[in-house]
Amino acid sequence: MVMSKFHPWCPAALCLVCREEADTPEHVLLHCPCLAGKRLRLFGTIHPDATRLRDGGAVAALARGFLRHREPAGYGRP
Ligand SMILES: [Zn+2]
Repeated sequence: MVMSKFHPWCPAALCLVCREEADTPEHVLLHCPCLAGKRLRLFGTIHPDATRLRDGGAVAALARGFLRHREPAGYGRP
């Protein structure tokens, strides 16, 4: 099990997709490695500035990508 430097006592607080950092909106939208490709397509960089998140459409696209990563293959929503 990977122990986070942020919440070593609470593994449930880790990102449910990458399990590398705390599961925060900042991590999911700006840092989660699983969404790097989607950030590159949306913003032209995998490390966008937080001000780029003012685009509600981009945030929604990232959220959809995050949820897609969380769903086990073949068990998507009906
Ligand atoms: Zn993550």
